[in-house]
Amino acid sequence: MKWLVVLGVCLGLLSGVSAMTVEEFEAFKQEGLDKPVIRYADIEPLLQQHRQNPLFEFTELGHSLLGTPIYQIKMGRGDTKVLAWTQMHGDEPTATAAIFDLLKYIAAEEQASWRGSWMEQITLYIIPMVNPDGAEVNTRVNAQGIDINRDALALQSPEGRILMEAAKRIEPHYGFNLHDQNRFHAAGDAKNPATISLLAPAFNEARDINESRKRAMQLIAYVKPLIDREIPNHLGRYDDTFSVRSFGDTFSSFGISTVLVEAGGHRNDDNRQVPRRLNFLMYVKWLDGIASGSYRTADVADHDAIPFNQRGMKDVLIHNVTFTLNEQPALLDLAFDLDWEASRRARIDDIGDLSIFGAYHSFDAEGLHFKAGRAYRLTELLTLEQAQYIELLRGGYTHFIGDEELLRNNSRLPVLVNPTRRLPREALVRQQSATFLLRNEDGVQYAVVNGQVIELDRGRVMYRYGS
Ligand SMILES: [Zn+2]
Repeated sequence: MKWLVVLGVCLGLLSGVSAMTVEEFEAFKQEGLDKPVIRYADIEPLLQQHRQNPLFEFTELGHSLLGTPIYQIKMGRGDTKVLAWTQMHGDEPTATAAIFDLLKYIAAEEQASWRGSWMEQITLYIIPMVNPDGAEVNTRVNAQGIDINRDALALQSPEGRILMEAAKRIEPHYGFNLHDQNRFHAAGDAKNPATISLLAPAFNEARDINESRKRAMQLIAYVKPLIDREIPNHLGRYDDTFSVRSFGDTFSSFGISTVLVEAGGHRNDDNRQVPRRLNFLMYVKWLDGIASGSYRTADVADHDAIPFNQRGMKDVLIHNVTFTLNEQPALLDLAFDLDWEASRRARIDDIGDLSIFGAYHSFDAEGLHFKAGRAYRLTELLTLEQAQYIELLRGGYTHFIGDEELLRNNSRLPVLVNPTRRLPREALVRQQSATFLLRNEDGVQYAVVNGQVIELDRGRVMYRYGS
């Protein structure tokens, strides 16, 4: 009988999260959070729903500066205390989604034996969306303009005070500081985005490793095989320069074994559902490893083997463009990114030998020559059909100037009207608008319009950017 119970527990573990496929996760994950911006209104009904569950004990810790409640959700009854918080940067919502996946998983009836296995050992405290005011307007900072993660010493933001008071009251053994990083971080030398980056923050300038920090490094080493299996060569290590004003570093100096998780970009994953899933898988694995103590067998050398983040990813890389200046032809690579946050204007980001960089989209322009585009002046109403637009592009035009109201774009292709960035003319200069033509002896083949590459033969955009 006892043997059967052991077998049953083993089967339960085997059929658990470690075997969860992408499809199973997609079917399981919390609905309503697969979006680029997550606001308090998105999580409010979920908070209300989980609040009804006796597994979860809710405490209103206080309010954001503009009055939105900030909750702590407590579960389990073990002596080991774990504190996790999300979205202290308002425009970094990936972990908020993953935390609601975790809550859904914990609450699932099929997981009764799993949650029982760690809830005896661990008391878990979660503070989702520390910065609801920033989330509301999709900015990093709070309503005062304060970066809450640089307010751990000054504590001038109500949100920072709430987090600090929670940590001092709970005195957690483990802290999970859950963030997003920008999509241009590469996983070391790999020409891939760092879809997940991890860090055991330093607690002093010397970046010493004490017992507490070593545990954080072991927690990272413990999940490395999982990430390597799920997304090989997409794991990075975040810069461990001591940041005296940050919460992670400050908590680390309190002796809390703190892990920073940064969700990053992934190809064809505008809403960061890949790092969301990995966050969820890591949370489950960390709960298991902390409850059983098994993470303590992880080798810090595995942590040290994770390559540091490098700022290397480009949105688009065009290789081997022939560029002729002063009658001297040269082969060069062109990278451009969309300045999404600011102006949604694509700019030329780098020029020359860019073979060391990875890109979300790339193509080889061998045999194609750079050609600067001309402006088409709008003087009367122009209803632009696709064939006519492609004729204009073939004729050397790349953008329109004049009264924007005069243009009706029926082409289903992107147009650029009254560009705010300078455009390339004879010379190519960084920070210019990514708007130009690529031609061969048969004429113009591609038009790059505000960073979007139009294949003229097919009348289609090669890459669609996310929202
Ligand atoms: Zn952040």
